[in-house]
Amino acid sequence: MHEYSIVMSLMEQCESLALEHQAKGIEQVQLKIGILSGVEPALLSQAFETFKLETICHNAKLILNIQPLVLQCRDCNTESQVNERTIICSACGSNNTLVTDGEDMMLMQLVLDT
Ligand SMILES: [Zn+2]
Repeated sequence: MHEYSIVMSLMEQCESLALEHQAKGIEQVQLKIGILSGVEPALLSQAFETFKLETICHNAKLILNIQPLVLQCRDCNTESQVNERTIICSACGSNNTLVTDGEDMMLMQLVLDT
């Protein structure tokens, strides 16, 4: 499953960061999940809860911030946030837009237990 491999690389990232900062553990992991990232938040948190027990994240709380799609219109220059898969500018209806956010998943914040 896609989410499992994401969580495994996330755990590796957490472990190396904890090691780097000589932390005893990790209290909180905050992720940004773009609605176009292809990541299913429910599956991701399920995978996290399963895998964390074996890792430095075993006490960590997972916080998911869902990032809407942000479109920058090249025609009218409006920036709009949408919660669906679209490339249509909500201001002028143009499809000449650029996706500036909402496509990726990233680690926003890690609270270390030191
Ligand atoms: Zn527009």
